[in-house]
Formats: sequence, C-alpha cells, structure tokens
Amino acid sequence: MSEQNFDVVILGAGSGGYAAALRSTQLGLTVGLIEKNKLGGTCLHVGCTPTKALLHSAEVADVTRESAKYGVSADFHGIDIQAVTKYREEVVTSKFRGLTGLIKQRGITVIEGEGRLISPTSVQVGDQVITGKSIVLASGSYSRSLPGLEIGGRVITSEHALELDFVPKKVAVLGGGVIGVEFASVWKSFGSDVTIIEALPHLVPNEDESVSKQFERAFRKRGIEFILGTRFQSVTQDDNGVVVTLEDGRTIEAELLLVAVGRGPSTAGLGYEEVGITMDRGFVLTNERLATNIPGVYAVGDIVPGLQLAHRGFQHGIFVAEEIAGLAPQVIDDINIPKVTYSHPEVASVGLSEAKAKEQYGDDKVTIYDYNLAGNGKSHILGTAGSIKVVRVNEGPVVGIHMIGDRVGELIGEAQLIVNWEAYPEDIAPLLHAHPTQDEALGEAFLYLAGKPLHTV
Ligand SMILES: Cc1cc2nc3c(=O)[nH]c(=O)nc-3n(C[C@H](O)[C@H](O)[C@H](O)COP(=O)(O)OP(=O)(O)OC[C@H]3O[C@@H](n4cnc5c(N)ncnc54)[C@H](O)[C@@H]3O)c2cc1C
Repeated sequence: MSEQNFDVVILGAGSGGYAAALRSTQLGLTVGLIEKNKLGGTCLHVGCTPTKALLHSAEVADVTRESAKYGVSADFHGIDIQAVTKYREEVVTSKFRGLTGLIKQRGITVIEGEGRLISPTSVQVGDQVITGKSIVLASGSYSRSLPGLEIGGRVITSEHALELDFVPKKVAVLGGGVIGVEFASVWKSFGSDVTIIEALPHLVPNEDESVSKQFERAFRKRGIEFILGTRFQSVTQDDNGVVVTLEDGRTIEAELLLVAVGRGPSTAGLGYEEVGITMDRGFVLTNERLATNIPGVYAVGDIVPGLQLAHRGFQHGIFVAEEIAGLAPQVIDDINIPKVTYSHPEVASVGLSEAKAKEQYGDDKVTIYDYNLAGNGKSHILGTAGSIKVVRVNEGPVVGIHMIGDRVGELIGEAQLIVNWEAYPEDIAPLLHAHPTQDEALGEAFLYLAGKPLHTV
C-alpha cells in the first residue's frame, strides 16, 4: 500500500468537494481530491448545467412558436434532439474543461478512483491510503425511487431523461418538485403530452402556497396535466409504454415514467458508519459548522440534511475550508439560501413563506405585499405573467421574497441580499431600479411597503 499525505483530503469532487478544494489551496493548504467519476459531480454533468441547457432549447422552441405575436416570421419545424444534445454537451464539456484546468492550476492533487473512509484521518482508494489532517466528506446524492418502484426500461430517472435520443409523445412524471416540473416544462415545450403526479396538495410544494397556485395555473394554461394529493401505487411496462396506477385507482398511460421523487445521500458502503460517524437514514449529521461527531471530519453538500442545491454545496465547501484554516467563517442558515426552479414560468424565492413568517412572528406582526407583474413594463414586453411577494416583519426587516414569472430567477440576486442583510423596505425604497427591467417590480414592492407606492395604489 502506498501512502500520500495532505492537509485536507476530500472525498467527492462535486459542487461541495471541489469548492472545498479550491478554497483550501487558496488558503495555503495541500489538498487530495478523490473522485471516482468526473470532476464537477452531479451538478455539472447530470444536474444543473445540462438541464438548464435543455430548458434554454425549450424556451427557443416556445419563442419560435410564438414569433408571429412579436412580428417575426419564423416557422417551428420541430425538435432535432441530436442537435439539442450536441449543444447541451458542448456547454457541459466546456465547463468541465474549465474546471479541470482550474483544479490543476491551483495545484490540487486529484486521485482518481473510488474512495472509502478507513479511519478518522484516511481514505483508501484501491491500494493507496490517502491521509489528511482533516477529512471532508462530499460524496453527494443519487436519484431516489419509492419502495417497490424499480428503475429500468421505461421507468427512468433524471439521468436517463437527459440521455433520451427522442422526444416522447406522452410522459408521466412522478413528483411535482423542482426536478419533476423542470423536465415536465422541457417536454411540453418539445411537444410531449405530460402528466405530473404529486402526492402533496401542490406542485412546487416547498414554495409559498400562493406561488404554487399561480404555478399550477400557468402549467394548466400550457396544457401540462397534473394530479395532486394522490399517491402512486404501481407501474407496469411493456414494449409500448407504461401504465401507472394511483392509490385512488386512476391509471395513466404514457411512453415513459420519470421518477423524480427526490435524491438520497450517496453514503452506503463508504465506511462512514464503521469509522463511527453519526448518520441518520444515510445522511451525515453535522453541527451548524458542518463538523461531524468525529473531530477533524466534516461533511458538505447533498449528504448533509437540508436543501440539495449546488450553491449550498459551494458555500459548504468554502465554509469548511475556512473553518479548517481557522478563519471562523459565518454560518449560513438554510432558510436564507436562494432557490430557483428554472421552468416556464420560473419560480425564485428566499427566506420565510407567508405561512412560516406568520407562524414565527404572529399573524398581526407581518405585512405581505404581492405585486402583480401585470404592472411591470418589461414583463409585459416579454409576455409573462406572475408576481413578486414580499414578506416583512412590521417595523422590521424583509424576511421572505417569493417570485414567479419568466426570468425571475435573475432577480434572486437582489432578493437574497435584501433578506440576508435583513434590510428594511425603507432602506431599499430610495435605491433605484433601472427602467424598464423586471427588477423594477421588486422596487415597486419595496416602495409600497415603505408607504410610498409609485405605480400602485
Ligand atoms: C436533474 C438535476 C437538476 C439540478 N438542477 C440544479 C440547479 O439548477 N441548481 C442547483 O443549485 N442544484 C441543482 N441540482 C442539485 C445539485 O446538482 C446538487 O445539489 C449538487 O450537485 C450537490 O453537490 P455535492 O458536491 O454534494 O454532490 P455531487 O455533485 O453529487 O458530487 C459528489 C461527487 O462525489 C463522487 N463520489 C461519490 N462517492 C465517491 C467515492 N466513494 N469515491 C470517489 N468519489 C465519489 C461522485 O462521483 C460525485 O462526483 C440538480 C440536480 C439534478 C439531479
């Protein structure tokens, strides 16, 4: 057995792991980064980046169909899935090359292979033992299924959905959360009939209820079908398609079933339990400073219970590197992490929903303002409906912002600064929002809450 020693050993090079590696070397620490697949992990190869490329192709398809409305003559002839794939792969490959170059440039040692934690200070990869003064577990997540629901054939996960070399005529999507609705949105734009099955009472059920309801209206208008508050029971498949049976006896026939019921932690068989790390249903438990119960062992990203988002992973990685270097970084609360659902329409939010804010502060201690994008010039130009809902504590800060409409994901930058800086509407009201932008809708909401609405009554 050969041995290599580093200040920090990181198991997994996804968003969490590679961010920890980059920040650690910036702080003068030596890093061994272990990866069994490709640098960049889920987000770069089968998650955020390729799905957003698909959504962009979908947007181009929608715009082309509607071009006459804007006075442009163009005919929509259909989707060339091979060309979509080429474009998507080109984006991913270019980002992958960039990341690989950066990791090399920073002097990070990449150890290729499957790692297994064998002690609080070492990971085994094949016949090598990689030892670190600190260890960062960053092994990420996988597409979960339901008990008894086997993936295979026409029953697919998001990874398979990305690889399809055809546009299905009819798809059933199990799960109305972020991954389910993004694929539903893409397929509908590509010309498929789509039915979403969601056990909870709403689509995008983690969002403010008023946003979920608007989202459902928008999807209904697009002709995307959905069945809410109903649980999946079983599925059968043959050469022609799948038949999905729900608990209430209804059946849905489709060419494919996409299972998008969430992601489980990739921790099985990696030695975590054997080394004595406290776990819960496969997730690694940490304190708020991302330290496990074993001194010197940290965990980041999707294996830590909470929002499974790439930018949370990045933040975790940076945080842990700074913690190891003794910089005492600031803890970021999960509730103030910005979230975007990149479908048509988009949903973007940060902070407390109306219901949570009322629960936390009391019904009469919060003020809600819901600005309708109908009053926003740029949204009208783009042809999008939606709203921006702001939740403020009376005579206190803004604690939640919830947005729906095409492109509102781009507004999350300002929204998250406001919530994380605990700004008062009165602080923001004097600041300008360029005209005409969708950003102005945020500005109008704060003008209203500061008691001086300009374009509303
Ligand atoms: C379809 C889809 C769309 C998404 N879209 C978005 C989005 O738009 N925005 C967003 O913020 N998030 C999105 N996500 C979520 C995002 O991809 C994850 O939150 C993020 O990748 C988590 O980072 P991570 O570092 O924890 O894990 P991962 O990215 O999963 O990385 C873990 C890495 O560890 C490696 N690994 C695991 N075990 C071992 C081992 N034993 N030895 C060596 N290597 C190992 C894996 O190969 C992998 O590369 C999406 C996810 C999916 C599936």
